[in-house]
Amino acid sequence: MRKYLLLTTLLSFSSLFAIAQSTYWQQQAEYTMEIDMNVNTNQFTGNQTLIYQNNSPDTLTKVFYHLYFNAFQPGSMMDVRSRTIADPDRRVMDRILYLDEDGIGYQRVTSLKQDGNDLTYETVGTVLEVNLSEPILPGKESTFTMEFIAQVPLQIRRSGRDNAEGIRYSMAQWYPKMAEYDEHGWHSNPYIGREFYGIWGNFDVKITIDSSYVVGGTGVLQNPEEIGHGYLPSGKKLKRPKGDQLTYHFVAENVHDFMWAADPDYVHTTAQVPNGPLLRFFYQADTLTENWQQLPDFTVRAFQYANKTFGQYPYAEFSVVQGGDGGMEYPMSTLITGHRSLRSLVGVTVHEFFHSWYQGVLGSNESLYAWMDEGFTSYATNRTMAQLFGPGRANGQEQARSYGGYFALVQSGLEEPLTTHADHFDTNRAYGSAAYSKGAVLLHQLSYIIGQQTLERGMRRYFNEWKFKHPDVVDFKRVMEKESGLELDWYFEYFVNSIRTIDYSVQSVEGERGETRITLERVGLMPMPQEVLITYQNGDQQLFYIPLRIMRGEKDSEGEYERTLLQDWPWTFPTYQLMISHPKSEIQQITLDPSGKMADIDRSNNTYPSVNPSTFSEEGLMNE
Ligand SMILES: [Zn+2]
Repeated sequence: MRKYLLLTTLLSFSSLFAIAQSTYWQQQAEYTMEIDMNVNTNQFTGNQTLIYQNNSPDTLTKVFYHLYFNAFQPGSMMDVRSRTIADPDRRVMDRILYLDEDGIGYQRVTSLKQDGNDLTYETVGTVLEVNLSEPILPGKESTFTMEFIAQVPLQIRRSGRDNAEGIRYSMAQWYPKMAEYDEHGWHSNPYIGREFYGIWGNFDVKITIDSSYVVGGTGVLQNPEEIGHGYLPSGKKLKRPKGDQLTYHFVAENVHDFMWAADPDYVHTTAQVPNGPLLRFFYQADTLTENWQQLPDFTVRAFQYANKTFGQYPYAEFSVVQGGDGGMEYPMSTLITGHRSLRSLVGVTVHEFFHSWYQGVLGSNESLYAWMDEGFTSYATNRTMAQLFGPGRANGQEQARSYGGYFALVQSGLEEPLTTHADHFDTNRAYGSAAYSKGAVLLHQLSYIIGQQTLERGMRRYFNEWKFKHPDVVDFKRVMEKESGLELDWYFEYFVNSIRTIDYSVQSVEGERGETRITLERVGLMPMPQEVLITYQNGDQQLFYIPLRIMRGEKDSEGEYERTLLQDWPWTFPTYQLMISHPKSEIQQITLDPSGKMADIDRSNNTYPSVNPSTFSEEGLMNE
C-alpha cells in the first residue's frame, strides 16, 4: 500500500487509473410501461413496473429516479445554468424562465410501491429520492410499481412538443428513469444539459395516442397489423380496431433508454441493410423531401461500412426520426432536425447512428467520459463520411477538422482535462471541443503510436469484448495495450488527465565530416514517439522511427516508407540526436511526423528548412 501511494504521488496524476477493475458486475432493469397521451393538453398519465436487480456487492437502502422534464421549469438548475454560463446554448438561453404553466414540463410521481409496500420519496428538482422500505440485498431484486402524470414541455432542449420544424412530440427523457449505480456508486446527476448514463435492461412500452399520429423510436413494434402507418409490408391487410385512439406496443431488449416521437404528418419509409438492421425513416414531407428520399441509400452504405470496420450492430432495427433540436442519439434510434442539405442530413444521421456503437452498445458513463462516446463517434463519422463523399478539402485528411477544433481550444486558453464531468466544464466550448474534437484526435493519434492496422483491430476487439458492459478508460487502454504489445499508460495519463500539449521541433541540422547531425527537441511537456522523414536531393526518402522508452517496444512498420528503427527516446531527455550518413548538402528536407497524426500544437518548427504549416478549420458542433 505504501509503495502504491508513493507511486501515485510521484506521478501526480488524478486517481482515475488507481481504480483497478475489480470483479465485474452491473445492475439490471426491466421496465413495463403504459402511457396515455392527450394530444390536446400535451399531458399524459403513465404507470410503470420496474424489476430492479441489484447485482452489486452492496446493500441498497435508497434509490434515485431521474425526472428529466422537471428541468423545464423557471428556476430549475438547467434554467439557472443556461442563464449564467459564459457561452449559453443558443437553443436554451433564458427560454425556460419564460415558460408559462402550459409550456413547462413536469413528471409527478403520484404513487410508488416497493414489492407492494408504499414508499416515502421526495422530488428534488429533476431527481426523485426514494427511501426503501426494505433494503435490497446483494444479488436480490425488487419490483417497483409507480403511477405518474406528466406534461410535455414546449421544445427547449432535445425533448418536448412542437419543435422548430413543427414535429409534435419528441419524447426523450419522458419517463421516470432509475439512476445508474455502479462500482463508483450512485450517479443521480441532476439534469442540466449534458450526457446520460443508464442501466441496461428490457423495455415493454404501450403508448396510447390519437389514431392519426404516427409513432416511431426505440424498439420493435409488436402489433403492426393494428397500427398500419407504414409498419405493414405493402399489400398486407390492416386489422385496425375502430376508434380514435391507437395503442402502439413496442419491445426493446438490452437497451439503456427508450425514446419515441409522434406526429400526424410523418412519412414512414424503410430500407434493409444487407446482413444488418431494418432501417426506418420518419419525416414530414416538404421542400426537402428529396434529401430524405436519398438518405436511406446513404444510411445503408454507411451501416455496411460501420459493421465491417467497427463491429456488428446488434439490434434488428434502427430508426431515423425527424424531431428534437439538432441531432441526438438514443438506443436503436435518433432524433434529428430535417431541414438540411443532403450532406448535412447524411452527416448527422451517420454521427447519431455511430452512437449505437459507443453510447448504445458500449455505454461508457458518458457524463464522466464523454470523449469515449462523442470523440470515438466523431472519429468513426469522419471516416465514414470520407467513404461516402470522399475526403474533406483540408489536407485530404479525414480527421483534420477535429485537429483544428482541438488546436483552437488549446489556443483559447479554455481547455479543461478530459476527466472533467460533462456537466461541470466551465464553458460549453471547452466541453464540446474536448469531448468531440480532442476525443477524435486521441483515437487518430493513437494510430500514430500503435499503427493504423493495430488500431482498427483494437477498435473491433474493444467493441466485441466490452459491448453491454460500460467500459471505462482503463478497459479501453488495456485492449489497445494487448493488441499492440505496447505500454500506453503515459499516453492516457497525459492526454486524458492533463491538458499538457505536444510540441517537437527540429532544433538544429549540422554538417559533420561528410555526415549530418540532426538535433530534435521536445518543446512541449507531453512526450511522444517520433517519426522523421528525410527527403534527399535525388528524391529518395527515408523514415527514421524513434519510439519512446516508456512504450517498451515499437509499432509495426506501416510500409509507406523504408523505415529505420533508432534507439528509443527516454522522455526526461529534452533533446535527441541522430546522425545521417549523408552530407548536409544532400538533404533537401527534414519533416517531423510526416503523417500529420501527432497533435503538435506548433508545426512551424517541424520542418527543415522551415515551411508554413497547413492550417486547420475548426469543427462545428451541432450534432450531439
Ligand atoms: Zn454525438
